[in-house]
Amino acid sequence: MVGAGPVGLLLTALLQSLEGVSVHLYEKRREYTRTRMVQLAPYLVADSIESYRADSIDGDSVEAIFDPAELDQGLAFRQSIPPDLSALLKSWVLGFCPLNSIERSISDLIDARGPNGVERTAAVVTAKDAMAMLQPGDALIDATGSRSLLRDHLIPGSGEVDDGANTLKVRLEYALVITFLYGQAYDCNEHCKYYKNIENAHYKFIPMVHRTHYDGSVSHVTGVVNISAEEYEAMPSRFDGEWLRDNFPGVAQSMDRFIDKIKEETHGEILGDLEVVRIPLDLYRARDATSRQWLAAGPSDHPFADSPVFLAGDSAVGSPYFQSISLGFECAMFLAGLIAQRDLPVRDKLDRYELYIYKQWLRVYMRSKMIKHNKDLFESLDDPLALLDKLHIY
Ligand SMILES: Cc1cc2nc3c(=O)[nH]c(=O)nc-3n(C[C@H](O)[C@H](O)[C@H](O)COP(=O)(O)OP(=O)(O)OC[C@H]3O[C@@H](n4cnc5c(N)ncnc54)[C@H](O)[C@@H]3O)c2cc1C
Repeated sequence: MVGAGPVGLLLTALLQSLEGVSVHLYEKRREYTRTRMVQLAPYLVADSIESYRADSIDGDSVEAIFDPAELDQGLAFRQSIPPDLSALLKSWVLGFCPLNSIERSISDLIDARGPNGVERTAAVVTAKDAMAMLQPGDALIDATGSRSLLRDHLIPGSGEVDDGANTLKVRLEYALVITFLYGQAYDCNEHCKYYKNIENAHYKFIPMVHRTHYDGSVSHVTGVVNISAEEYEAMPSRFDGEWLRDNFPGVAQSMDRFIDKIKEETHGEILGDLEVVRIPLDLYRARDATSRQWLAAGPSDHPFADSPVFLAGDSAVGSPYFQSISLGFECAMFLAGLIAQRDLPVRDKLDRYELYIYKQWLRVYMRSKMIKHNKDLFESLDDPLALLDKLHIY
């Protein structure tokens, strides 16, 4: 396993409990320092088809894309997750938690379990290293995130690696992800998003419905503001409220109006400054998420012709709107379930994983396009003609 981010760690912890499997986990970071707050989807711990489909945006897509038997298998796998890990998952889906606390908790759990079955190495692994390490009977899993180590190596070719050849990317928009702490309980629904933005003709701040979290004294609020490609280019990757006020006063005024309305309602104060990250909101997938093309190409001395390779997490599929870790965890559960089936031929494992990833891609593609569409409509709510231009009714 290359990459011990949240997905590589979860997969390692799942494989660790399988009999006859040992894992060698490589990670280049020595410490988990990413403090950003993330939210995981409740469907990760669903115990019935109804609760798995509870999401208002993609509940119907789930029913349309997956066969009932597939959904049942997914639920059965969840029931088999060891209690130590399942307790962690249940606690994360309740709210909002720092990414590094997810990473540290799974990492500590892996280390604390005995007998262990996991060897860990701190190193930067190159594609060449990964190929050289492969021994008969090994499976190689690339969980190295959006800039995947092996994605472009999964297509057989002349030896030249064509950057991006195995990636389908859809750019939805550019956005500022703005986070602030507020010293009172504050919750937001669609009505609140509308009324608090009513004077903002542009740069509406859209807090994620479930992304305000009150921990007893402080609300963590995160949301997005749509920006243009030119504005994106003119900004550093991360900055604070002061930089925003000095350089993009229009966005800052819109935030101030939104925050003033929260204060009018709940009489609290902002604690500290705004934290702002500018990101392109991209949806992408690896066209091939396994080494099946190498297997299909027939015998060769390339290591991927004999040993299965799987992409997991952001390596395989990436999506905006705060759903990616959940998607990665979902696919990790499926992959662990496949690897557990020792009698299943490698070719079948690769095919089943590809199909599963494709179905999850369809699901997240439709969900993301729907969210983007809804956001676009929201931007024009005060202008009926602009709104109508965005509606294709029939
Ligand atoms: C601002 C922001 C907010 C977000 N909020 C949310 C949210 O609320 N909910 C959500 O689901 N998602 C969220 N995401 C996305 C989420 O962080 C990613 O989907 C998630 O981290 C992907 O996990 P991963 O394990 O696949 O990859 P990563 O987290 O990228 O981990 C990959 C690991 O591989 C290691 N690695 C890479 N290359 C090598 C190499 N060559 N050798 C050894 N090790 C290597 C890296 O050091 C890293 O530890 C957010 C992202 C951003 C930018």
